[in-house]
Amino acid sequence: MASLRTFLDSLPEEEILRFKNPMEMDYTPTALALELEKEQKFPMLWFEKPNGFDMPVVANIFAHRDRIARIAGAPDAAGFNQAWLRAENNPIAPRIVDSGPVQEVVFTGDEVDVETLPISRHFQADAGRYIGSGILMCKDPDTGVRNLSFQRLQMKGRDRFGASLHSRGHIWDHLIRSQNKGKNLEVAVVIGAHPAIYLAAAAKVAMEVDELDIAGGLLGKPIDLVKCRTIDMEVPASAEIVIEGELLANATEDEGPYGEYTGYSTYRSTRNIFMVKAVTRRREPIYLDIIPGNSSEHLLLGRCAKEAHVFERLREVVPDVKALNYPKSGTHFHAYISLKKRVEGQARHALMLLFGLDSYLKLAIAVDEDIDIYNEEDILFALATRFQADTDMFVVPKVFCNRLDPSSVEGMSAKLGIDATIPQDFDAERIALPPEALERARLALAELFPEK
Ligand code: MN
Repeated sequence: MASLRTFLDSLPEEEILRFKNPMEMDYTPTALALELEKEQKFPMLWFEKPNGFDMPVVANIFAHRDRIARIAGAPDAAGFNQAWLRAENNPIAPRIVDSGPVQEVVFTGDEVDVETLPISRHFQADAGRYIGSGILMCKDPDTGVRNLSFQRLQMKGRDRFGASLHSRGHIWDHLIRSQNKGKNLEVAVVIGAHPAIYLAAAAKVAMEVDELDIAGGLLGKPIDLVKCRTIDMEVPASAEIVIEGELLANATEDEGPYGEYTGYSTYRSTRNIFMVKAVTRRREPIYLDIIPGNSSEHLLLGRCAKEAHVFERLREVVPDVKALNYPKSGTHFHAYISLKKRVEGQARHALMLLFGLDSYLKLAIAVDEDIDIYNEEDILFALATRFQADTDMFVVPKVFCNRLDPSSVEGMSAKLGIDATIPQDFDAERIALPPEALERARLALAELFPEK
């Protein structure tokens, strides 16, 4: 059965950085991941003996595009979109089984104590110990369709968390409708499962889609679920740890700040309260952490599935769009597209569509096919030589946006679309070399530097 363990077993040892000695968990995984990132290194981190806790911690699984692609069943990053869309178009529903390792140990009532889990502090200004790697599973109070998503959880005691549903996603909608019926919203928090379930949980798909069906599609087989012990929910049978509980209706209290994907520490919170009813886990569980903030891991997990999904919707309307990239520098707020423009105005058409498809976006730049949208120097070259600010850009003020943008005003921001494609009457030719000359140069260099 696919689990976090089967995935870890499949990882080549050179992709893992193992810490066999006792390590302090507060801040250390985040500091290590960010230091490694500066050197363009993205290993998975494995802490075998976290100080003061009796289970190992793994982190940084999602820090590299190639690893994420392999989770989705593609050989490398270039194949990710196709693998994702295949799963989205061929979902496989989960099935319920009688038992699973996630319930080898069950704590309820007074036995519940989440403080014994290696939940750590990540950034200096964080209000406390936070779970950022929990998949929150709940059900639509009207249709019963499951929802999987990530929401930050601040540990406040043995059985209490502060929760922020600030992205106003499906879980927020579910809670509002539960509240209107005077009911709490039952939620199971899954920590540690096959990473394909994490990718599916990060996807922004329609409310009527159960993200577990997509996870099944990615794995090519149904996810086995077991029924929770204290709430009406089902969770992956082979998960590591599950926290069962309820988001309280009509009750709020302070939560935050927490280091967010924007690179800022933020109080912007819906200030919800999550009360724990049970903790179930494997006998010897592994705690999965996700490096938060604007780390490579956090931003990639948030955007890989979104990129594939949005790209496909774009291409349905503008088939000449060739590629879409959400650059890390833009923390989900910027996107670059390349297209093979056939008529004037096509780039703007695609840009408007892009803004409509993704409310997080504030800046979108369209370039021609010859520009490498994964290379920001190339993007700036297109701006420098193919763009005039008085005619080639548009601004839409006061549009619904993501509130975590510290510059947003009352949940709204302006959208800036830039058409940096070559105008049809363009009077310039890009410099180039004869292919034979390039080949000669390559051969000469290969002789001088044979190791390359
Ligand atoms: Mn959903």
